[in-house]
Amino acid sequence: GKAPVRVAITGASGQIGYQLLFRIASGDMLGKDQPIILQCLELPGAMNSLKGVAMELDDCAFPLLKGIVQSDKPEEAFAGADYALLVGARPRSKGMERGDLLKANAEIFSVQGKALDKSANRDTLRVLVVGNPANTNALIAARNAPNIDPKRFSAMTRLDHNRGLAQLADKTGSAVTDIEKFCIWGNHSATQYPDINFGTVKGKSLVNTINDQKWVKDNFIPTVQQRGAAIIAARGLSSAASAASAAIDHMRDWTYGTNGQWTSMAIYSEGEYGADKGLYFSFPVIVDNKGKYEIVKGLKLDQFSQERFDATRKELLSEMDGVKELLP
Ligand code: NDP
Repeated sequence: GKAPVRVAITGASGQIGYQLLFRIASGDMLGKDQPIILQCLELPGAMNSLKGVAMELDDCAFPLLKGIVQSDKPEEAFAGADYALLVGARPRSKGMERGDLLKANAEIFSVQGKALDKSANRDTLRVLVVGNPANTNALIAARNAPNIDPKRFSAMTRLDHNRGLAQLADKTGSAVTDIEKFCIWGNHSATQYPDINFGTVKGKSLVNTINDQKWVKDNFIPTVQQRGAAIIAARGLSSAASAASAAIDHMRDWTYGTNGQWTSMAIYSEGEYGADKGLYFSFPVIVDNKGKYEIVKGLKLDQFSQERFDATRKELLSEMDGVKELLP
């Protein structure tokens, strides 16, 4: 059989981590024939809770699970890692300014970038940042890992993408798999731009099928942008299972390809579509069956789209400016 791959997860005993670990160990991320070693990182104060999670993982007797590392030291948790899912982050506490939140997370992600640079498997590594502000955290981690290709880092907009697909399938009375060429541009935040202009449903234009621009502007876009808050309002807790599911989709598609379909990933920008070079920006991408992603090229943005694109781009620039001292 295949040799095991090493999957590092930070914030492993948090809400999202608790959903993620079991699905990775059961083979949902890398397939039912890929053995896995889970390498869990937690804060010292959460090690006991992590121990309980590891006991439960043992108790699942997952055939693919070949080992569990529990550590509060980034270099140890990232040792030889082929995959790193950076979930743990500092949540916004009451009265905390946005700038303070950015800085608190910048500290965490600069340490983790350095640790990845030292100890991960640089030739195979795929990094997905889930912890918020995800795009800027990815930027900081990548910039602190000078020996790792910045294209090996990404941030998650797949949950936003999946939320959009679900809304569009519902509106058009179709299956999520009937919707193609939909994408999220920009930041994983309220400024993200879910774009249906190139989209199709069963091969026909989404814009023409829906034929209701007012619904798109006043209903669809805000629903996708504010879905996280709506789930907190309903459940009293943030969206953890769906976030974990999106992380699994992201890593699986990045590894095995998208079969020619579009998906959304926040990745290193070379300046495509005017997104400033060096930002981690969500683009429509296609991943080939060797695990190489390409940004979809040659799309024409209309004025409405361009305005939204610029708003999310400017937000990312201002986040970058807020952490500039921590960028080597
Ligand atoms: P969650 O597991 O619920 O969330 C973790 C991070 O994911 C947060 O930054 C959260 O952002 C973000 N996130 C991104 N997308 C979503 C989404 N759709 N829904 C919800 N969250 C999303 O947080 P917990 O507090 O339960 O767990 C965090 C764990 O991380 C704790 O166990 C803590 O000990 C650990 N931690 C570990 C660190 C480390 O390993 N060095 C550093 C810091 C924390 P948002 O806050 O905006 O919801």
